[in-house]
Parts: sequence; C-alpha cells; structure tokens
Amino acid sequence: MKKLIVSNIKLDITDSEEKLPEALAKRKIFCEPEDILIVRKALDARDKDNIHYVYTVALDPAKSGRIRKGSGLSLADIKPYSLPESGSSGVSGRHVVIGSGPAGMFAGLILAKAGYRPLIIERGQPVGQRQKTVEHFWAAGSLDPESNACFGEGGAGTFSDGKLNTGIKDPDGRIRFILETFARFGADRSVTYSNKPHVGSDVLAKVVAGIREEIIKLGGEYLFRTKLTAIIPGKPLTLQLEGEGGSSNIEAESVILATGHSAHDIYHMLSGLGAQMTQKPFAAGFRIEHLQSDINLAQYGERYAGMLPAADYKLSHKSITGKGVYTFCMCPGGYVVDTSTDSEGICINGMSFSARNGRNANSAVIAVVDESDFGSDDIFAGLRYQKAIEKAAREAGGGVIPVQRLSDYLSGKPTPDFGKVLPDIKGSIRAGSVSGIFSDVINASIADGIKAFGQKIKCFDDEDAVLSGVESRTSSPVKILRGDNFESNISGIFPCGEGAGYAGGITSAAADGMKVAEEIIRRYRPC
Ligand SMILES: Cc1cc2nc3c(=O)[nH]c(=O)nc-3n(C[C@H](O)[C@H](O)[C@H](O)COP(=O)(O)OP(=O)(O)OC[C@H]3O[C@@H](n4cnc5c(N)ncnc54)[C@H](O)[C@@H]3O)c2cc1C
Repeated sequence: MKKLIVSNIKLDITDSEEKLPEALAKRKIFCEPEDILIVRKALDARDKDNIHYVYTVALDPAKSGRIRKGSGLSLADIKPYSLPESGSSGVSGRHVVIGSGPAGMFAGLILAKAGYRPLIIERGQPVGQRQKTVEHFWAAGSLDPESNACFGEGGAGTFSDGKLNTGIKDPDGRIRFILETFARFGADRSVTYSNKPHVGSDVLAKVVAGIREEIIKLGGEYLFRTKLTAIIPGKPLTLQLEGEGGSSNIEAESVILATGHSAHDIYHMLSGLGAQMTQKPFAAGFRIEHLQSDINLAQYGERYAGMLPAADYKLSHKSITGKGVYTFCMCPGGYVVDTSTDSEGICINGMSFSARNGRNANSAVIAVVDESDFGSDDIFAGLRYQKAIEKAAREAGGGVIPVQRLSDYLSGKPTPDFGKVLPDIKGSIRAGSVSGIFSDVINASIADGIKAFGQKIKCFDDEDAVLSGVESRTSSPVKILRGDNFESNISGIFPCGEGAGYAGGITSAAADGMKVAEEIIRRYRPC
C-alpha cells in the first residue's frame, strides 16, 4: 500500500522525536505518534546560526487526516525485502559460506531464513573471544594471525566505528532489511533512519553474536578457528579445511567466498585454480588525528559546538600531482587501531564506541594508488605494494605503529614531542618518520591534500595534528571476476563482498552477501 511521505520537517536540535506530531499538525497533517514511521533524519549544519534536524516520515494516508496539497508531500511504496522463490535443482553437498564478516553473515542469514541450513566457516574466533584476543594484542603486542582486528567473527568491521551509510540504491529493500536487522539485534533504532547511521564497536559485537544465534536457530552451523585452505573443483566441490583438530575435507554444492580483502592466501589459492581476477587501484596513506573539540568548533561554530553529537567530515581534493586525495572512514570521538594480520608489517584503521566520546577525531587521509605506483606486471602487483608499504611502516616505527606530528612530517623532521593533540591509539606506537613509507609523489599528494582540507576545516592542517601509518587496506587491490549470476568461472564458487571487489564497507558488503545468497536460493531446492 502506498504511504504518504512528508519531507522537510524541521525540528530544533533540542527537540526529541516526540515533537513530530506537533510539527506535522502545523502542516495540517494529523496523526498519532505510533502511526509515524521515520524514514530519514539528517542534521542540517549549513547555517552555523541555525543548525537543526530535518526529518522525512511515512504515514498511512487513511489515518493522517485531511491532506492538503503542498510541497514536501508525495505518495510512495516502501517495499519490504522479500526472499526469492526457491529453485528446483537438487544438491549433492552443502551450501557453505567462507567468512563471517558482513557479507558472509548476511549471506548466511538469508540462506538460513530460506531453509538452506548454511555451514559458515570462519578462520578466527567467535566475537566474544575475539574481543579479548584483540584487546590483548593492543595491550601486549602478541598478534594472533588468525584472529585479530581483520579476521574473526564479524569480519573487519567489528572493531570499527560501525558507520552503516552506503551510496548504493535500495530498490529491493535490502539496505532497509540490513539496518532493521542491526536494530533488531541491539543497535539503536535510529540506524534505520539516520542519514549517517552509526553503531559503535561495543554494540557491533552484540549484533554479530545475535545474528549468529538466529542463523543457528534456523538450522545453520558455524565452524570457528577453521580455515579454508584449498578447493578441488567438481560437482560437488571439495573444500579442504584446516582447524584446531587438524585438516579435513567436506563436500559443497556451492561455496560463497566472503573472505574479505586481508585474506591474501585466498587470492593465491584461486589464482592456482585458474579463477579469473584483475588488478584494481585502491588508496593508501595515513590516519590523521585532531582534537574532536576543534572539529566540532569548525563544523558547528561556537554557538552549537558543545550541544551536538561529535562532528564528522568527508573531504576530497585533486592534488598538484594529479592524484585524488580524500578522507575516508572518519571516526568522531574515536581511536586509531592496529589492524595488522601478520608480523611482517603494520596497518591501521579507526574505530569508535557507540558514544563517540573519545578526545580525538581520526580519519584516513589517503591518495589513490594504481599501476603508476605499483606497476602492471601481474594481478598481484597491488598486493605486493600493499605488503611493501606495511613493511615500511613497521620499519618506520621500529616494530610498532609510527607516529609523527603533522608539522614534522611536512618539514621532514623527527617528532621529539607532541603538542595539543596526543595520539589516542589502540596498539603500541613510537615516534617515527611516516614519510619514509611512501614515494615522493604520494607524500606530495597527501601534503597538498592536507593543505587544501585546511581551507575547508580550519584545524585540519594544524601543526599539532598527528599522523600514523599505514592506512593500506582501504579496499581490495584485486577483483575476482564473476558472471551476471554471481558465479566465478569455476563452477560452484561465488566470490562475494569487499575481498572479491564488489563492496566497500559494512552495508554494501552485507547487501552483496544477500544478493549472492538469493542466487543460490533461486537455483536450488531448500535442503
Ligand atoms: C578497523 C576497521 C574499521 C572499519 N570501519 C568501517 C565503518 O565504520 N564502516 C564501514 O562501512 N566499513 C568499515 N570498515 C570496512 C568494513 O569492515 C569492510 O568493508 C567489511 O567488513 C567487508 O566485509 P566482508 O564481509 O566483505 O569482509 P570481512 O569483513 O573482511 O570478512 C571476511 C571474513 O572472512 C574470514 N576469512 C578470511 N579468510 C578465510 C579463510 N580462508 N577461511 C575462513 N575464514 C576466512 C575472516 O576472518 C573474516 O571474518 C572498517 C574496517 C576496519 C578494519
């Protein structure tokens, strides 16, 4: 049934959503609070003297009183997500999902909901144990190469800010389903309508465990601390697994490969099988930290700076070298975190808790890297480049995360002391020259980008801002090709999510997992 969509409803920043009926009544639209479905809430901070929230709501036209014609009113369908019809092919093995990041979790959830009892195989630990392992690594430096900030239940985004926004369109309701699922398992309801939904690392862990319990309740199964090491093509496929109890083989009708972009072993294994893959540009650079109070002041102005949630930003610039430079995965009130997966190199990223109440704001400040930086010798040139800069970061920090004051980075000096911005980093750090990680072209691009961003956000190029390195896992340097039916050129293998090159972020990876699971449902009978 069509809903009446009412947009551009303005509320003061001190007003709660309970004021929506009153605001609607001013537009001669009368309804009960329980009949209001909030579709979108955004903060309009363009005018620093009049910052306010702007809502869009959906109402049942029959229940919303006399409707006047006017701007900001329309009728629209809000299509709920629905599972596809099951296919008729029988199966000779199980449907197996490799990886329990957002892509694998949502593929598993959809298969389980449709009665396909998926088996989910994850090299790392269940999220609760993984949290302890990761915290121990950050505090004591002992890395578990199979269970860390990138590997383990929940995938790479578990120790993150949990931003759920995505640029992808949602004609089939998948994004709404994903956000509703996050809310159902513990995220704040506002993730379903905020224009910048954010969960926080503390809440994400509960959501991930809740989704796992639901999958198991619906007949799915999990194997943790179990790694896919090889696939023998055929019908069924044979999957070779390495677990705590040793190696084993299982038969699979289909395998959804949702292994993320840090599983370099999977790319090499697929290459050995003759899977079609291509090289792909990605982006690399540093994390930059500022005082969150300075970012709030720059974004909200003096009048509102102390009254609103921690401010964010998103910036881009075409640098003097011709390279694109941009900020990425900004974490308001967050922490820089060590996300290394091996002891040869160091890579970092950012996370926040749900309250976003850390003293610093951090964000990646990165330049596009492509063939001009790593050559075009073969499809793994980007992977080798990624490894090389992670190794250089480790050397720059003498074995731990290198950190440098911005003014020292720009003038090529070591950092004896920090200024007003003290690094807020989970993992061991040491002052080091982060410029040594990159070529002159990348350093010149990033330095120019930081200068340009200082024109947009006053404190961005503050001499006391802190850089750390290296931000290298922004997206996959390799794409695993698949046909329109989501299958690779090797029958039964379905590459999926960010590692395969079809997503960038938690929500788009989850949506890709759903699409691949839907294809399996359309083909096969439930089992
Ligand atoms: C610290 C951090 C912060 C981030 N913050 C955000 C954010 O706020 N918002 C956002 O949208 N994105 C964020 N991202 C990016 C986001 O996490 C990824 O885009 C997303 O997790 C990709 O999902 P995926 O399921 O494709 O892969 P992944 O999440 O990488 O999951 C892959 C899974 O496969 C498992 N696996 C790998 N190889 C094997 C194997 N051989 N056998 C068995 N299991 C295997 C891994 O252990 C892992 O659990 C962040 C990433 C990091 C690291």
